[in-house]
Amino acid sequence: MTDVPTRIHYENPSPAVARIVLAKPETRNAQDSTMLYEIDAAFQRAAADDHIKVVILAAEGPHFSSGHDLRNPWHIGDQAPVSMWGGFDQPGCEGLLAAEEEIFLGLCWRWRNFPKPTIAEVQGRAIAGGLMLVWSCDLIVAATDARFSDPVVALGVNGHEFFVHAWELGARRAKEMLFTGGDVSAEEARQLGMVNHVVELDELPGFTLALAERIARMPSLGLKLAKQSVNQSLDAQGQWTAVQAAFSLHQIGHAHNMKLFGQLIDPSGPETIRELTRTPARGR
Ligand code: ZN
Repeated sequence: MTDVPTRIHYENPSPAVARIVLAKPETRNAQDSTMLYEIDAAFQRAAADDHIKVVILAAEGPHFSSGHDLRNPWHIGDQAPVSMWGGFDQPGCEGLLAAEEEIFLGLCWRWRNFPKPTIAEVQGRAIAGGLMLVWSCDLIVAATDARFSDPVVALGVNGHEFFVHAWELGARRAKEMLFTGGDVSAEEARQLGMVNHVVELDELPGFTLALAERIARMPSLGLKLAKQSVNQSLDAQGQWTAVQAAFSLHQIGHAHNMKLFGQLIDPSGPETIRELTRTPARGR
């Protein structure tokens, strides 16, 4: 945990609400491991503060997050792991598996199970790793310009590491999003049940805070029990088992790329994704 975060802000917009804000708009809030651990530290701070009942996860700038920083996304550095995984510097697939278990799947699952209600406040693009943060939250409020995508099939893997796509979008729409690398718009996501509310961009922070404050009027234990109960319903349907199975296939994708190309992703992928993100309509 870093003492003074450099990639996020932690705000208290009202007494019972914490707001964690991604604060690297100059990189479209691309996530490196430092940002992820700063987010985790902020969640820990909100968990430990008995005054806080609801957490909003928001972002500065025109875009929520462009995803993982592909320049160096898997480096743990001197961060203290939150899981029992070790061997991050081991060669072959061992180090990569450990790092992705810890900082990608591990942190997302930890935040999915954060005991207090969480709300993602999303404008602009949420791409791949950006979508992982959004899907870790309980509720999602989107601006009309929000667009959600996971184009990493172009990188030669199945999708991002927190593979809840079919749960969030339904199987057919999830497949189309993955196969084409295209976007799901805010309004379509609302119709699919992935997004709770779509509001005008200038109303986004105020609407999200009002929703958080309404939730915060409930007793904290009732909120925790309600959240746990819904999550356990998903668990009973096999969500965690399915996520772990997809994560295993994801590692096969990385291993294949390493064998063929000497790197974890298909080298043609980044340019394909750049072209896709310049194409606003889905499937084209
Ligand atoms: Zn990966």
